[in-house]
Amino acid sequence: MKLARLVAGVAALLLCAGPGLAQSAAGVDRLYVLDCGWAHAADQSRWSPGVDVGKPIDLSDNCYLIHHARGGYLLWDTGIADATAASPDGVAMANGAMIWHRPKTLAAQLATLGVKPDDIRYIGVSHTHPDHVGNVELFPKSTVLIQKAEYDWAFARPTPPFAAGHPVMMLDGDKDVFGDGSTIILSTPGHTPGHESLLVHLPKTGWVVLSGDVVHFKANWDNRRVPALNVDKEKSLASMQRIADILAERHAQLWINHDKPQSDGQRHAPEYYE
Ligand SMILES: [Zn+2]
Repeated sequence: MKLARLVAGVAALLLCAGPGLAQSAAGVDRLYVLDCGWAHAADQSRWSPGVDVGKPIDLSDNCYLIHHARGGYLLWDTGIADATAASPDGVAMANGAMIWHRPKTLAAQLATLGVKPDDIRYIGVSHTHPDHVGNVELFPKSTVLIQKAEYDWAFARPTPPFAAGHPVMMLDGDKDVFGDGSTIILSTPGHTPGHESLLVHLPKTGWVVLSGDVVHFKANWDNRRVPALNVDKEKSLASMQRIADILAERHAQLWINHDKPQSDGQRHAPEYYE
């Protein structure tokens, strides 16, 4: 009896200790790197004008599933369409410049984690190229976080990146997604008009910047090379500098989405970063 009262008392005390407990459970607690496809390209200079002409390159394509203790799930990018998985020899894109492969679907990887499409509260899209928005419609109820400049540009093209009626939150610059500074969308235009990157804080890993296509691979980052296909070279250079400044200021790591050697060295789902 006495012990039961004591236990009840301790439980009540713990409940009263709300703010302290809430603080330790706040923020982002997990980040999964998901395999969202890969591509073989015959000519690397597509991304580095005049450099490495005719040299082939393989590119990774990651999605990132971020869990916020109070805010729920944010999926960052959705990769090349899951339908690509049905073609074992891959699918040619950009007039044959790249062959895309999808060994694992996004749907299957989320199912393995026990995450249902409706559990995804937000989808952040770095930009609207097909290797980033291929699966937005797997998540009809999730709100797409997209810059207005990107939305207007993408929906003016003949093939819309996702359904016109999909729930969206239009952004005009940076956005603190969960309101606590743990997950910040960074406006990094240049590759496309409304390109964005993501700054995430993980309790054990520290600050990480998910590049989007602000840069495609390490050699381009080290040499500040801008792909010819980018819509604005000056803005691309300014966005790279902005990311470099944030990396220095936050002692952050830069995770380059399409850098296959870097990606191959990372833990992929079902493993995760904390
Ligand atoms: Zn792109």
